[in-house]
Parts: sequence; C-alpha cells; structure tokens
Amino acid sequence: MQKTRYIFITGGVSSSLGKGVTVAALGTLLESRGYSVSLQKMDPYINVDPGTMSPYQHGEVYVTDDGAETDLDLGYYERFTNSKLSRKNSVSTGQIYYSVIERERKGDYLGRTVQVVPHITNEIRNRIYTLSRENETDFVIVEIGGTVGDIESVPFLEAIRQMRYEHGASQVMFIHLTLVPTIHAAGEAKTKPTQHSVKELLALGIQPDILICRIQKNMTKEMRNKISLFCNVKDENVISAVDIANSIYEIPQMYKDEKLDEVVLKTLGMDLRKINFSKWESLVKIIRTSKKKVKIALIGKYISLQDAYRSIYEAISHGGIANEANVEVIKLNPEDLDKNNIKDALKGIHGILVPGGFGERGIEGKVAAIHYARTKKIPFLGICLGMQCAVIEFARNELGYKDANSTEFNPKSEHPVISMIEEQMEIEQMGGTMRLGGYPCRILKGSIAFQEYKSEKISERHRHRFEFTLRYKEEFEKKGMKLTGFSPDQNLVEIVEVPSHPWFIGVQFHPEFQSKPTQPHPLFVGLVRESLKLVKKGEE
Ligand code: GLN
Repeated sequence: MQKTRYIFITGGVSSSLGKGVTVAALGTLLESRGYSVSLQKMDPYINVDPGTMSPYQHGEVYVTDDGAETDLDLGYYERFTNSKLSRKNSVSTGQIYYSVIERERKGDYLGRTVQVVPHITNEIRNRIYTLSRENETDFVIVEIGGTVGDIESVPFLEAIRQMRYEHGASQVMFIHLTLVPTIHAAGEAKTKPTQHSVKELLALGIQPDILICRIQKNMTKEMRNKISLFCNVKDENVISAVDIANSIYEIPQMYKDEKLDEVVLKTLGMDLRKINFSKWESLVKIIRTSKKKVKIALIGKYISLQDAYRSIYEAISHGGIANEANVEVIKLNPEDLDKNNIKDALKGIHGILVPGGFGERGIEGKVAAIHYARTKKIPFLGICLGMQCAVIEFARNELGYKDANSTEFNPKSEHPVISMIEEQMEIEQMGGTMRLGGYPCRILKGSIAFQEYKSEKISERHRHRFEFTLRYKEEFEKKGMKLTGFSPDQNLVEIVEVPSHPWFIGVQFHPEFQSKPTQPHPLFVGLVRESLKLVKKGEE
C-alpha cells in the first residue's frame, strides 16, 4: 500500500467556477487509472451543516447514506466516482469550532489558551487524516470552499500549508482553479486576475502546483507562457478549462484531453497506469448523438435557483441518457398554478415530477398539477413532499375529504392523511433531526416499483418529518391508490401508486441522491421511458 497523496483544490477570482465538478472529474480520471480516491469538501461557513439553510442561500441539501445533510458538491462526487461518502466527507467551520469548544469545556486542553493555530488547524487536519486512515485510499482530494481572499477560508488554507510543509511536495499537491475572463471590448482574455489570485495564495504560504483556468476559448501558447512565468507554475501545469456546451458529463473527457490526470500523477511522482475510460466515452457519445426529445415538467417553488433541485435535474438527465433522449425540463412554479390554468400550463408536457420541499407555499399548485397528471394519465413521479401531495390530492378527490391535508400545512385538518412521524414529535432542535439517510424499503411484487427496481428489497435515502397516516390505508386502497412500499416493520409507507394509471408513483424517499450517469436510477429511467411513450402517441 502506497502512502495516501493529498490534493487540495482552491478557487480564485470568482465563485461558481465549478470547483466541485472539477474535483469530481479529477476523481473520475484517477479512478479510471486504477487508483482509489476519497473526496472531501471543506465549507467555510459557521453553520454546522446546510440542513437548516434556505435553498435560496445554499441550493440543494445533499443527503449521504449515513444521514448527513451536506453540500451539493458531494452529489457531484458520488455521481462521478465510486467513492462512498459519509458525514466525514463534509466539513464546515461550524463543525470544527463545535468540536474544539466541546473539548475545551471538557477540560481537554489542560489550561492552555485555545487558538486558531494550532487547535483549529489541527482539528481541520484531523478531519482530512481520518479519511485517509479509514479508507486507505491512494488519493484524498479536498475541495476548499469559497474563494481565496475570503476571511473565512484562512484557517483551512493555513492547515493545508502546514500539511505541505510536513509531508512535502511528493505527498501534498495544490491545484488552484481560476478564471481568465474575456474582455469583449478588447477582444482578449486577461490573465491579470489569475496572477493576483496566485499572489494572495503566496502570501499565505501556498504555491500552486497546477493552475486550472476557466476560459471561454482555448488558451494560446503565449497566454500559457505568461501565466506560467508570473505564477511560478510550469507551462504544462497550466490547464485550460473551456466552457462545455452540452453536459457536465463531458468534463472528465475534457480534462483527460487537457492531460490533467497525467500532470497530477507526474507531479506527485506516481505511475501513469493504463486508463480505462470506455464507460465515460460511450456516455459522451450517447449525450452527443441522442435525438429523441421529451418534455418533463418540474413543479417546485425554488425553480429560479439553478442549484436548488440539482440532484433531481441530474437524475432526470441520467434517465435521458438511459433512454438515449434529450430531456427538456420545463420548470414551473406551483404558486402560479391552479385548477383553472393547469391545462394550459402543462400543454405539450410528457411527464410530471413534483420534488421534495417544506412549508405550505405552493402546495395547492402542486396538488392541481398532480390531479391533472392522475386524471389525464400523464406519467408522474412524486418525491417526498411530491408523494405527500399526491396522497392529499387523492384523498380530496377520490375519498371525498375536501379538507384533507398534511398536518405540516393544516394542523387542524379533519383528515390529516399526512402526519408527523411519532418519533419526531418530541424533537425541538432543528438541525440534523429529521428522519435522515438510507433506510431499507420492501416492495410489493406486481407493483410499478417492482417492475422498475426488479427487486423486493431496496435502500433509499430520506429527509423528512411527515409520513402517510397509516389508519387511512384501507380507504385509499379501496379507492385505487395502492401502498406498494413499506419500511421493514410495516409502519412507514414508502411508496404509493395508482394501478389504473399507466405510470403514477409517489415515493417518500429521495431516489435522486443515488442516481449516476453511469448507473441511472430505475425510477428516473422509468419516468423518461413512459414520457417518451406519450411523445410517440403524439399527444403534444
Ligand atoms: N416537508 C415534508 C416532510 O418533512 C417533506 C420533506 C421533503 O420533501 N424532503 O415530511
């Protein structure tokens, strides 16, 4: 077993340069060369995790199998690599301080003054070492959140500087991802912001080994020379990352063509093992050649924010890849929908997805859309809150309980068909207290779910406080909504379906978290496949 190599990725000049995808794509390439990788995100904010943050602030909350509420970049890590992630792969300033302060209160520091250096930086380093110790991976790739120059990221940068000093350049590497903007009036790409960003890093004692430059068009030789000279980075270690036109799943290929993996291995003095990249090559081929088109509506109140339903969008695109189709996602805000305008709003749509969410806002629009999907026989997938709304819709329109609701939205409803999970009732604290993470589910044979999963036993990730109220089971089943998935103790309803409909399914869990482009999730494959049937029927 070789010693673990640590690769740190920092960001410069601007946020939103795609550091997460870059980390993930580097993971893909190293795995394709037969190395094992573990990926970790360091978030500089003081929240313990993003679980309590609004999607407007933070985008989606990604849930790991062990029930951690994490940054959405972990989703990219799981989609691009085989590395299994847990709560240890997502670290925040809040967590670091929390454990240092807890230890201080216990008296563990034996009277010493507790300081950023060494106590906070040691805690950061420990979180990184834990990963390499536990997984014995060849590479731990760590993404430092934020942009170099932010006050918040200084302790993280100090911790990784120390690691380089201690372990040397053959074990610790720095990659800096920056922006080379094009000034349109001058018609030129400018390297100055990158130079300044590297100077900031140098002031903190970090000399990047590799620069990855986000740039609109391919970098010229002169530009590469200039960046190399000003930033003390070898010519060949200046990698250009040109904007990708089609899909983020082309990014590993793009970095392969730019020889990022080769440069990383060479710089760390490691073998350039043979690459097995065929899986990703065929994926890119499918993405580039798929001709079929299908429209799926996503009905959620955070559609204005690109990242709020990140895993859902990705999982839909995986379903598209599996069916060799281009899926156009039509984003609709449920607050704009009601039973009078729903027909027009959903015109030309071949499938409907209602994702998870919290709070009353937008519920009635979702219920109206689900009613339309159910009665007009449009393929429907409801996820978590989407499943709960399907239950509410069915109770109102088929069971005749006009005020049926979830107690989340109307605690006084006479027909609380969705209600709080009993264990949740005692909980007062907000953070990390929902029913979180992977739980087993048993599927009934003969159901849509069984047809898609081809298995009676599955495990899916959860993030909820409310559930189907079990005493209504018989009434629902009599009227035609079947409960086809349960927790092993039979107490929790995991899946509902309408068998008289071609494909109508609601799931209490979040299938989107386990979908990968190379292993598309069966429910998303099914949704796209069934929606394509509507395209064929010409029901545009
Ligand atoms: N608000 C609902 C609950 O807590 C649904 C949660 C979700 O969609 N993630 O059960």
